[in-house]
Amino acid sequence: MSEPISLYNSMSRAVEPLRPLAPPRVSLYVCGPTIYNYGHIGNFRTYVAVDLLRRTLTHFGYEVDHVMQFTDVDDKTIRGARENGVPLKQFTSQFREAFLEDAKTLNIEIPERTPNATDHIPRMVELIATLVDKGAAYASDDGSVYFRIAAFPKYGCLSHLDLENLVAGARVNQDEYEKEGVGDFVLWKKWTVADGDVGWDSPWGKGRPGWHIECSALSMEYLGEEIDIHGGGTDLRFPHHENEIAQSEAATGHTFVRSWFHVEHLLVDGQKMSKSLGNMYTVRDVLARGYTGRELRYALLSGAHYSKNLNFTWQGMDDAKTAVARIDEWRRLVRNLSPAALDEPPLLQLAADCLNDFNAALRHDLNANKALGVLFNFISTTNAGLHRGQYLPREIKAIDLVWTAVDAVLGLGDVTESSVPAEVQSLAEQRAAARKAKDFAASDTLRKQIEALGWKVKDTPKGQELTAA
Ligand code: AMP
Ligand code: ZN
Repeated sequence: MSEPISLYNSMSRAVEPLRPLAPPRVSLYVCGPTIYNYGHIGNFRTYVAVDLLRRTLTHFGYEVDHVMQFTDVDDKTIRGARENGVPLKQFTSQFREAFLEDAKTLNIEIPERTPNATDHIPRMVELIATLVDKGAAYASDDGSVYFRIAAFPKYGCLSHLDLENLVAGARVNQDEYEKEGVGDFVLWKKWTVADGDVGWDSPWGKGRPGWHIECSALSMEYLGEEIDIHGGGTDLRFPHHENEIAQSEAATGHTFVRSWFHVEHLLVDGQKMSKSLGNMYTVRDVLARGYTGRELRYALLSGAHYSKNLNFTWQGMDDAKTAVARIDEWRRLVRNLSPAALDEPPLLQLAADCLNDFNAALRHDLNANKALGVLFNFISTTNAGLHRGQYLPREIKAIDLVWTAVDAVLGLGDVTESSVPAEVQSLAEQRAAARKAKDFAASDTLRKQIEALGWKVKDTPKGQELTAA
């Protein structure tokens, strides 16, 4: 049985109860990355927020059918392939793999389907042909095909555009443009020399699809003409999502998306990320500074509600490290405790309250911060009893059940050896070998190196134990 949940719908600009078309199924389409480079942590803020949405829906009993495409043909990917002197497919596939690896680092669940745009060109051509047949698109004398926004009176409904001042017949050939530059937008781009060997045949000659058409075509192909939720970063609201609505609804004559989910941007030290400011970080850059994927996930989840800007700072990463270490320490206590039969404290009630409060926080538009607050309250309350070895076996089990339910949504993962960075793990192994050989000077040096990377090593009868400092 699925339970009710409310989400902010950026079309209506209100928090609304989710009403899926065919519950418990929820169809979810999320615009995927353009794979011409490594994703930056801003991109991953959006994908972590979508992952929170997906996991929350599952937690409340929905069956999520999630599709995310990879944009593997556009100006940027074509330019990248040319500059590197490799075929487009070879160029983009390395960044597809890198994206999937980074998603794994952040414990992001991979959507049910992750098609590449270029594997579905005929479907896009078909959709464009339907739009031409219906008079909502036209082939221009420059050999490209454009969407005729005058044929779609609802145009602007998502971004609340005032179309009064538009110059009739103005056209935009770029995929990205500002509201001031709105006009008939491109669906099919005629081949030019800059495209090299990239191009497909179509009724309008050789060319390639514009960026917007792929999401309409793929969403309809995999999820049907009308879907429950469509998501992406806030910058996609205009023109991309506006154009998706126009293309899809002009073709089908009915609603394309029931609820729009937009994630606000990540800023770095209060500024927009940009290469020129030197503040554009990839997931790999963050790991190279000694943080783990779990810590980055925590920072992305906890920094701000998804509908607000998130300010990324290195201080924020240090705070995330401390918070994750606190969870890990609690988990270790729960795991290693031999329960003692003392007076029974009201732990079972406490566990039930924790889950209720956690659910309430998420049920109202995914309040991850509040949900984390509930978890940390539970950690503080139970820590004292855990330190005293006070809990009964069934209470320890209740704590474990709370954690399992909570972490299915938060996805922070349990403390395992693999959460220790490989570099620290390798130093620890060298230190164990040095101790075995009674080389205590080397062992001390290695301890210092481990500490410099933010880890503590403790010698226990079972061997070394590593904890985040
Ligand atoms: P792109 O690869 O440029 O198509 O972007 C992939 C996703 O990341 C899209 O949903 C964008 O809206 C989102 N995105 C881009 N920059 C940021 C940012 N600074 N913060 C959050 N999301 C972003
Ligand atoms: Zn899209």
